[in-house]
Amino acid sequence: MLYRDCEHHVNEESTHFVHLINSNPRFSGTEMYDWTALGMITEAIGFFGSKLLCPDRLNPYRDFPDLLSLDNAEREDFFKNNLGIDDLTKIDLAEIIIHQQGYSIGDRAFYEYYSGDFSKREAKALMLNRFERNGSATKKLLELRKRFGILLPN
Ligand SMILES: [Zn+2]
Repeated sequence: MLYRDCEHHVNEESTHFVHLINSNPRFSGTEMYDWTALGMITEAIGFFGSKLLCPDRLNPYRDFPDLLSLDNAEREDFFKNNLGIDDLTKIDLAEIIIHQQGYSIGDRAFYEYYSGDFSKREAKALMLNRFERNGSATKKLLELRKRFGILLPN
């Protein structure tokens, strides 16, 4: 994991450590959709923290369409036509979607934090949330997507 962009990855992985050790979010025993949403929120926090430590980091998915809003055929077309990739496994695709959603939220959250619209209190609450109740991570993810302008149906 720590190969290119080493500093950014160290910053992100350090943020994951601080987040996970403090909140101990509930990944086990959740429905797949909630587990996936929690993964996206975790990546959002990781990217947000890496931007706090190194603001020049760019979201590598900034020119991608919202992959969550596309159907499977549209996603295959995007990867084949824009990136020359036609052999993504479902696991690879899930990892890309989780990171794209998380990084996009974390990126927008950073700029709102910087401008004062996303408060330190809100950031702390997100980082300490354990997401104990079923559906709570999914509900929060939808709130974050809407708040940070990512829930834009095609
Ligand atoms: Zn990460």
